Amino acid sequence: MSYKNNYSFISSAPLPRSWVEIDGQALRFNIRVARNRIPKKTKIIAVVKSDAYGHGLVPISRELVQSGIEVLGINNVDEVIELRNAGIQNPLLILCPILPPEAPLVIANNAWVVVSSFNEAKWLNNAAEHLGKKAIIHLKIDTGMGRLGFSPSNFVKEMEKIKKLSSVCIGAVCTHFAQADTDLEATEKQWLELLKLKEYFKGLPIHVANSAALWRKSVYACDYVRIGLALYGLAPMSFLRRLLRPIMSWKCKVVLIKELPKNHPISYGSTYRLKKPSKIAVLSIGYGDGYLRSLSNKAFVLIKGKRCPVRGAVTMNQIMVDISELPSCKIGEEAILIGTQGKESINADELAKLAGTISYEILTNIHSNIPRQYRHFLSRSNASLHYYE
Ligand SMILES: *Cc1c(COP(=O)(O)O)cnc(C)c1O
Repeated sequence: MSYKNNYSFISSAPLPRSWVEIDGQALRFNIRVARNRIPKKTKIIAVVKSDAYGHGLVPISRELVQSGIEVLGINNVDEVIELRNAGIQNPLLILCPILPPEAPLVIANNAWVVVSSFNEAKWLNNAAEHLGKKAIIHLKIDTGMGRLGFSPSNFVKEMEKIKKLSSVCIGAVCTHFAQADTDLEATEKQWLELLKLKEYFKGLPIHVANSAALWRKSVYACDYVRIGLALYGLAPMSFLRRLLRPIMSWKCKVVLIKELPKNHPISYGSTYRLKKPSKIAVLSIGYGDGYLRSLSNKAFVLIKGKRCPVRGAVTMNQIMVDISELPSCKIGEEAILIGTQGKESINADELAKLAGTISYEILTNIHSNIPRQYRHFLSRSNASLHYYE
């Protein structure tokens, strides 16, 4: 007996209980804001690592490229394959070190790589030689981030060795700021550390700025900027947030409504007790979907334009919110976890602050099986509602 056949009649997708909407118009608006911030000669490396910060790697990359973005910044070889399979031909800059077996794939797909050691350059050189191509690498200097990059003290020596590799071409020199969002002085110190070595890489393009740095100081724009968060309409600094439009809304549905008496406990651990008789809505979202458990008893959701407080612990697939102020709320009602409804808004930064994290983690934590719907996208494959899993 075929289990599969018995169930084939339910194979079409039902309406989702939780979904993410992504607005192409807002994305293009943010791209324009970024363009206006940089000199004409400066190219944008749009960072689309981690599934474009949870927005969807291929649809976002297509839209960025269609809107004139020159380079896509990614994390690994899987993303190279996915983007090339999607027909994207732009330069792809891999921001993370590659491993030796990955070198041929990187070269065959014309990806650029940020390199932090002579060995990485050598592996890429060998693969390039073998394939009759050139490896394009961006040399990174660790000016204070303590993650990737050559240490400034041996950068010059290593660069000279790399220059002797016949199938390697140095496309740029770069560094990464550790505190662009919080500490201008420390950021400037890193910048000056890079400039100390400038005579050694004269003529080569430079890139240093992430979103925060770009809006801290315009000289950080250099030849390329590597920006992610700002394109998605978010920013660590509130003045920048006001210039941008968040491109993502995250929604779910009311699946049950109940009246509970005063003192009734709510959810695991009974961490909340009703202060008065209340109307409670159960929503179809939880930490298993990426709505952080640390939002328990802290966050709000929007229903019918009103802020409704989350009561009790966030569970794996459900949360409870107080809707006592909303007499007309019905089963199936839309609830906004992130986004705008009427005059009220909840953004990823608000959730991040409540959960003790950063907006990046809120976005990238939204489970990939939550469907993304693309609206107002120019790229043809996303012209209508587009769900992907
Ligand atoms: C992720 C990343 C960026 C983008 O940072 P945003 O703050 O999202 O603009 C830039 N550079 C590097 C090296 C990164 O890893």
